[in-house]
Amino acid sequence: MTLNSLMDSFQGDDDKKSWAHFQERIAKAPEQVLRYYRNSNSKPTWPVLSGRPSKDDIPKCIYCGGSMCCEFQILPQLLYYFGVENEVNSLDWASIVVYACEASCEASLPYKHEYARVQLYSPSACPIV
Ligand SMILES: [Zn+2]
Repeated sequence: MTLNSLMDSFQGDDDKKSWAHFQERIAKAPEQVLRYYRNSNSKPTWPVLSGRPSKDDIPKCIYCGGSMCCEFQILPQLLYYFGVENEVNSLDWASIVVYACEASCEASLPYKHEYARVQLYSPSACPIV
């Protein structure tokens, strides 16, 4: 699978424009597979417009009830390193963004419940927890 073949599966000019912007950002470090956001005001760079969550889509922290912010983003380039072929029903995503508590509460817990948002290339996105 190549990034250009992914591009062919996009629908709509807005998504193509968004993808071009995404490519431009990623081209600065083309081998990156993960983007880490240190600043809680950071916004993920979504590859396509469709399937982006609105602020209301992001749940509140289950421990303190506070807002969650994006912590890191897994890029579709990782699929290349997994050796995933471009097949129907194969593993595929445009982006996976993981959100964590903005206040970093309950730091003593070894494992914490976070929220992952998966953006697919189709117009729909499915949230998983
Ligand atoms: Zn919290």
